[in-house]
This record gives sequence, C-alpha cells and structure tokens, in this order.
Amino acid sequence: MSGKIYVGVDLGGTSIKVGLCDEQGTLLHTYEGPTGTEEGPQVVLDRIAQYVKQIVSDSSYTWEQVAGVGAGIAGFIDLESGIVIRSANLDWDNVEVKRELEERLGCPVRINNDANVAALGEAWSGAGRGVAHVVCLTLGTGVGGGVIINGKIVEGFRGMAAELGHIKVVPDLEAIQCGCGQIGCVETVSSATGIIRMAKDAVGRGEATSLSELSTLMAKDVFDAAKEGDEVALRIVKRAAHYLAKAMAAVAVVLNPQRFIIGGGVSRAGDILFDEIRKVYKLNVPPAFAEGVDIVPAQLGNDAGIVGAAGLNLN
Ligand SMILES: [Zn+2]
Repeated sequence: MSGKIYVGVDLGGTSIKVGLCDEQGTLLHTYEGPTGTEEGPQVVLDRIAQYVKQIVSDSSYTWEQVAGVGAGIAGFIDLESGIVIRSANLDWDNVEVKRELEERLGCPVRINNDANVAALGEAWSGAGRGVAHVVCLTLGTGVGGGVIINGKIVEGFRGMAAELGHIKVVPDLEAIQCGCGQIGCVETVSSATGIIRMAKDAVGRGEATSLSELSTLMAKDVFDAAKEGDEVALRIVKRAAHYLAKAMAAVAVVLNPQRFIIGGGVSRAGDILFDEIRKVYKLNVPPAFAEGVDIVPAQLGNDAGIVGAAGLNLN
C-alpha cells in the first residue's frame, strides 16, 4: 500500500491499545495488550515499542511509511519535552516517554494527555471531520475537555488548556467540592459521578422515584428512569445538561467553535440529554454564537484516543 501511515498508542493503566491510521484518519488495524504497570516504566516502554513494531509488520505497510508515533496518556505531561511529569494511572513520575520511545523506534514520537488526544481524534476523523474549530467534552467519571482550533490542539501555558470540567458554573449555595480543590465545577454535576450522587441524594431524601427500588445506581439507570417519565430522574438529567450547557456557553464566547462534540458514557443518554443541552446553550449565548453552531454526539467511542494519538504527528 502507498501513502504515509500514523501509529497511535492509547496508554492506560491496565491496557496498551495500538492502532494504525491512514492519511485520512481511518483506523486500519488495532492491537491491545496488558500494560503491566507493576513492572516499571522501562518494561512498559519496551512493550509499547514491541506492539508498535508488530502492528506495522503485520500490516500491508512498511516501516518506512510510518510518519510518526503518538501516544495519549492520562496525567500531567510536559508537551515540549515529551516527559510524563506525573501519571497516577501508571504511577509514573518524570518518565521521558518521547526520548525513550524515539530511541527504541527510530521515528518521531509525540505525546499528549488523553483528553486532548481524544478531541483530536474526533476532530480528525470522527464527529468533527472537516470542521476546523471543535470543542470536545467527555462525560465519564469526570468531565474531560479538548479544544481543537485550526485543526490543532490548544495546549496553553504548561499544556493545561481545556480543563473544561473545572469551569465553575454551579452557584455557591448549591455547590459541592470538586476533586480539583475548587467548588461548583461542572464536573460535580454533569459527570456520571455527579449524576449518581444527585440520584442518591434524592433517594436519601425520600423523594418519590423509581430509582429508590434499585440496589445499585448507575448513571444509565437515571437516564432510563427519566425516559420512562420519572420526574426526579428527569430533573437530575436536566440539571446535568443545564450546567454543561452553561459551561459550553462560557467556552463559546472565548473560542467561537463551530461544533461541540460530546462523548463518554453519559452522552449515550441520547436526545433526552442533547435536547436540553441545545436549548440551554442557546439561551445562554449571544445569537451569533448559536447560529451555525452544532452540538453533536461523539462518533469514535473508545477509538478516539488511538486515532487522536496517531494524529499528533499530522503537522
Ligand atoms: Zn474542579
């Protein structure tokens, strides 16, 4: 096969996922293996290099066609030097990932944090394909963010731009503490964790809801109950959507994105969530920031990380 290929690595605490993308960002092959964090960074880096070499040699491409290798890692990363300053998932401190992998592979290596990389993946070949200015929000355990302007990740001073989950939107009187040390961050209400907490609070207060019959509560249970007309569940979903939309409105007037992409487990709630987000967003921005701007679900699911990591070597 002709053309360049891009290799992406999604480095997680339990598994290493490697993928091969063509110049359009189409994911051609994937491979997944255990991380083995307990064996230490040098062994994990050896393993990544081995998986990368393997996936290329198993494909119909040659090593000479590899434009570069990118890796997405959860943690605090010095983007310029490619050093993982701290990753709680991997229990790594000051690991020179870029230099170590370049030595092992003999090709350019770039690393970035997992949320930025997932945003780049969606922008390159997912729900943001063909759109230059994209903001991504991932609603999972927390609320992750990534901003792509002119097709490039906005990194900011120290690489900490786009921590969108920590936009403070909840009024102080209703706010609770966030993991970041602040209070009232959007993550405290619009993440799966926030939704479950609000549901448990409602059940604890003895409110009349079908959720009180469940022994364990997941965010999906709240969405299912809301779809069936449970008033309490519906109020929780609307609250999550409301504050997310307010955070998006704040982002919109700073960055003027054309498209917001919402992913993560919570986004699977579908229309019940998106309809409310779109409505509240529109009410909270000047009209020019709503016209021609769309709010859509992510498309790549768990592959966004691999595709975006591969895309780090695009330019
Ligand atoms: Zn926070």
